[in-house]
Amino acid sequence: MRFERDNIRKMKGYAPGEQLNESGVTKLNTNENPYPPSPAVAAVLRELDAERLRRYPPPLADGIREAAAELHGLTPEHVMATNGGDELLRLVLTTFVEPEETVVITRPSYSLYPVLTQIHGCRLREIDLEGDWSLPETFIEELQESEAKLCILVNPHAPSGLLLGADYLERLARAFSGLLLVDEAYVDFVEPSLGYDAVSLVRKLDNVLLLRTLSKGYSLAGLRVGYGLGDPGLISPMLSKTRDSYNTDLLAQELATAALHDQVYARECWSRVRDSRETLSLRLKGMGFSIAPSQSNFLLCEVPDGNDAKELQLALKKRKVLVRYFDQERLRDKLRISIGSEAENRVLVDTLKELLA
Ligand SMILES: *Cc1c(COP(=O)(O)O)cnc(C)c1O
Repeated sequence: MRFERDNIRKMKGYAPGEQLNESGVTKLNTNENPYPPSPAVAAVLRELDAERLRRYPPPLADGIREAAAELHGLTPEHVMATNGGDELLRLVLTTFVEPEETVVITRPSYSLYPVLTQIHGCRLREIDLEGDWSLPETFIEELQESEAKLCILVNPHAPSGLLLGADYLERLARAFSGLLLVDEAYVDFVEPSLGYDAVSLVRKLDNVLLLRTLSKGYSLAGLRVGYGLGDPGLISPMLSKTRDSYNTDLLAQELATAALHDQVYARECWSRVRDSRETLSLRLKGMGFSIAPSQSNFLLCEVPDGNDAKELQLALKKRKVLVRYFDQERLRDKLRISIGSEAENRVLVDTLKELLA
């Protein structure tokens, strides 16, 4: 304990959602994909020769970079692979933000952001969202006045699922002298007919970075692969200087590349999650929950009058149904429920019917 830096002693670590390794659990608490990874991923895993592990992997993860560049109509210089999307968050702080500089995020948002800014020792400015989880009208002015070096927005928003338009993000990035990091961990589940596309911003603005992950959209949370998209001027210092020398391992590189190449399978999974999102949302609303419109693979559900969200979460857990409760301002009357398979969603709804007051 004596040797920690002051800020480390004072901070709390990130609290991940529970991972129960029992059978028969309906796990809707950490936004994992309910479907298995692509059969192409399983095939690469089966066929990988252990002898290949003797050597170091390609240091820059060329396979992932090329696959992602092709997918998004960018060049590999616009892409860097990371050990989960979370590593990109840490790299952005250590590469671009001085310890005395300010980082702006919204409240609420992804609870890892404050943890990482505390480790780095920089200032954090949290701007409260409106009642409907949208940004306040004054957000851009407040951002400018903050003189922040970095602004992190999660889009679609977590934990509400609300989507900001790419045109708004463009206006924000153009008005902001710092770096805008858009965390698109859940972007794969956005309704395609909305035409949301922030990758186009990467082509024309040199202060926009996008975070992507294979954890949610590609059913690979256990593999730990994400990637960043940005102007080569932003990618290059992270790729050539601040990254761990072999930040993604050989297995991760090969499996992630296979997953990115199988877009047909991935799109089918996303579409099923979207369909289930609509069905589940209607069912829960029918039971008295108030639900924010979500473009993500989860729903933020305010519990019906006369119920206590924390108690409901514990009662669900006793019946082996896991959902997420956040002991945080504005979230204490809500549960965040990941979209499961049709069968899992039915178990959730049936169990809730037994429990609701
Ligand atoms: C899941 C998630 C990430 C990245 O997760 P990894 O598993 O590290 O790729 C980043 N931001 C948000 C908001 C997330 O929910």
